Formats: sequence, structure tokens, C-alpha cells
Amino acid sequence: MSQRILVPWAMPEIGKEALKKSKAEVTFLHGPKGELPTLKELMGATQKADVLLPRGAQPVSRKVMMVNPNLRGIANYGVGYDNIDVAFATQLGIPVTNTPGVLTETTADLAWVLLMATARKIPQAHNYTLSGQWKGPGGKSFMGLDIGPGGSNRPKVLGIIGLGRIGQAMMRRSRGFKMKVVAYDPYVKETIDKMKGVEYRELQDLLKESDFITLHCPLTKETHHLIGRKELEMMKPTAILINTSRGPVVDERALVSALKKGRITGAGLDVYEKEPKLSPGLSKLENVVLLPHIGSATNDTRGQMAVVAAKNAITMLRGKRPKNIVNPEVFQSPEYLRKLMV
Ligand code: NAD
Repeated sequence: MSQRILVPWAMPEIGKEALKKSKAEVTFLHGPKGELPTLKELMGATQKADVLLPRGAQPVSRKVMMVNPNLRGIANYGVGYDNIDVAFATQLGIPVTNTPGVLTETTADLAWVLLMATARKIPQAHNYTLSGQWKGPGGKSFMGLDIGPGGSNRPKVLGIIGLGRIGQAMMRRSRGFKMKVVAYDPYVKETIDKMKGVEYRELQDLLKESDFITLHCPLTKETHHLIGRKELEMMKPTAILINTSRGPVVDERALVSALKKGRITGAGLDVYEKEPKLSPGLSKLENVVLLPHIGSATNDTRGQMAVVAAKNAITMLRGKRPKNIVNPEVFQSPEYLRKLMV
């Protein structure tokens, strides 16, 4: 059986080293500055691969898989796998893996920084200081919102949507700020009921009660536009929305409109509906903090993600069951079993 892995992006060295441990023939496909290949280039190279190791933002659609239904695995570099048509991969007998766990704390760090930066208007104040407009006392004060109990000594309410690995890491961070934590996650409701330091809320109740709302659910058909006009209208006028999950979880046009009208106080975003494009008007707003999808972007974490993805790729190349499988039902499919026989 051939042993070819295709990595269509600029993988960190530590991931390349991990791939060298296998006998696989590894092809790296990207531009001199790390530019991603075009769809045509990706499809061409996929024809000659046994396992594909894409990065999170790279769409692995039906069209891509159809050029090589004999793929023996897709090892995604990222915990989210909405870039892959997993249902179709399963149909073709292709196992799909992701890189959970290694990026949890780093992504929660970023979400927390975004929450604090948005509440205290840090980028706006930084830009003002650099601009030379600050002339001492009497200048612009950049009045923000308390994250801790503040002068009024009222604990602030953190609403977490999606209480998985990153959602729980946010909960841990909130303890230092004496926040009250409420969470909405219909898939782990009973677990939340038994957890200390968090109270379950239905979505509408969470939206009405929270001072800060932070999104940590995956992008699925169900979570697409989970936060739209109706949901934004339920939030407190002082609320701040933080999104480090996936852009399409929020109806971005509705968010721009709510922010323009001052319907909510602010938003901190790391992800967008049509990356790298921003919805009209978003970049003109003063009550937003916008980051270019850097949730897991530390050398250490990105390196470990590459190692996990490499290990998953090698395991699938060997026809073994990988640790981070997202479509376990594939192992029962005749299409998968047929590939093992070849
Ligand atoms: P996880 O699987 O541990 O947690 C996700 C949680 O969301 C689960 O508990 C699940 O039950 C819940 N959920 C599913 N559908 C829901 C719904 N309709 N409503 C509410 N909750 C729902 O995943 P994780 O490791 O915590 O990662 C979460 C997401 O964060 C990923 O899917 C990814 O899209 C995103 N992410 C983004 C970055 C970034 O760079 N911005 C980095 C890492 C992860």
C-alpha cells in the first residue's frame, strides 16, 4: 500500500519532524510565504495522496474528496472541523480527525484577553495614546465596564454558550474575577446541573441575564446564526459579546446593526462569517475589538497541534484507529473496510 501524506500549507517544523518518523512520502504544498494552494492545485495534489493533512481554514469539500475517494484519512489541523464535509467523508469511508485539547488553554486565554480588551477599550485607548491626542488630565477617559465586582460590588454574569473544553477553561478564568457563571449547552445539560460554580440556563435566559456572553460551540447546521437579531435584542444594553468559535455562529450583519444602534455595548471578535472579509460597517465601529482568527496562535500550541495532526495522519496511513476520530461510525462502513483489503 502506498504511503503518501499531503500537507497543503506551511506546517511548523516540529510537525514536519513528527511526520519524518513515519516511512511516508510527505509532500508540502504552499507558496514561498506560506500562501495556501488554489483549489485546483489542492485537487491536483490530492489525487496523489493517501492521507490529507489540511489546516483548519482549508475547505475539504465534496469536490476535493471526489478527486480521490480512496483517501485513507483526513487529519485536520484544528479542533473545529467545519471546513470538512464530514458526512461525505464518512460516505466515502474516509476517517477524519482533529486536534482537541492542546489548544484549549491558549484559545481561552485569547477569548479572555478579548473580553477584557473590549470591556476596557484597550485598543482604542492604545491608539489614542500613540496618536498624540492625549494632552493630560481632562482628556478622553475611555470609560469601560467592570469585569470583576467593581465599585458597586456586584458580581458580573458570564454567559458561556457551549460548555466544552474551551468553555470550561473560560469558566476557570472567571473565578479570579468573582463572576457568576451561567451556561447553555443542550448536549451536556445534565453534566452542567451536577457541576459546581455554574448554573444551567436556556439560551433566552442566558442572553437576558449575562453581562458578558462568550461563544464556544462548534459551527454546525444548528449553531449557524445562533445569535441573530432576535437574540441580540434580548441582551442587556450593557452586554458585550465575544466570539472566538466560528464566524457564522453570529449573524454578522445583525451584529453590526445592533452595535451601531448601541443595542449592545460592544463585541470582541476573532472569527467572521466570510473570513477574511468583514461585513460592511464592522471595521468602522468604535465599540469592537477585531482580531484576525488567532485563537490558538502561539508557537507552542500551534506546534503541538501539528504534532497531534501528524500522529493522526500516520495512524490512519497505517490503517489503525486514530485517537481523535470525529466520525467513528466510518470504521463500520464497507467503503472503509474495502480500503484496508487493497
Ligand atoms: P468542545 O467539543 O470541547 O466543546 C464544544 C461544546 O459546544 C460542546 O460541549 C457541545 O456540546 C457544545 N454545543 C454543540 N452544539 C451546541 C449548541 N447548539 N448550542 C450550545 N452548545 C453546543 O470543543 P472546544 O475544543 O471547546 O472548541 C469549541 C470550538 O471553538 C471549536 O469547534 C472551534 O470551532 C472553535 N475554536 C476556535 C479557535 C480560534 O482560533 N478562534 C481555536 C480553537 C477552537
